Amino acid sequence: MKSITTLELQYAHRFYGFQGEAQYLHGHTGVLTIEVEDSVNTGVNMVFPCNEIQKTAWNVLKNFDHSLILREDDPLLPAILKVYEEQGIKDGAPLNTMKGDAFKTELATAYPECRLVVTKETMTVEGMIKIAYELLKDKLNISKLTFTSGVNVATEDYKPVNTINRCPLCGIKLNSESICPKCGYKK
Ligand SMILES: [Zn+2]
Ligand SMILES: [Zn+2]
Repeated sequence: MKSITTLELQYAHRFYGFQGEAQYLHGHTGVLTIEVEDSVNTGVNMVFPCNEIQKTAWNVLKNFDHSLILREDDPLLPAILKVYEEQGIKDGAPLNTMKGDAFKTELATAYPECRLVVTKETMTVEGMIKIAYELLKDKLNISKLTFTSGVNVATEDYKPVNTINRCPLCGIKLNSESICPKCGYKK
């Protein structure tokens, strides 16, 4: 069976070098749908608690919310960093508190201090799916990701790996010592 949840990301980007209006900086509200597949965990009668899927995903994906996403070769990148630097907000600002854990993968690097994500490829809806899967595949048994942004939608199916050990009392992932970080259950 599947547990499915969604989360919303508001971001700005552009398609550098693209012929069309998307080559200009603009913004979106994107919705990522995460489908997690496994057996039903009999203790809690769930595949995985949806709020825990959200929490796990949000910890890293909040780096994309209220952020600017630019491709690594986009000349806007040094130009914007220069302005942030001169303004003294490049390395953070007192009210920039909703920051995710900084990450660096093959496809994207997050700079939470200045709400910037630098990508290897153009950040299309397809690009977002590749980035999100890379960031979440070891944390959740993902069977499908769908990303919607305006009228654009991309979706990809995955074969779930089923390696997540779940607590029979609260359904969340046990840590590496097989202990539940929430209730202390030990397998
Ligand atoms: Zn766009
Ligand atoms: Zn537990």
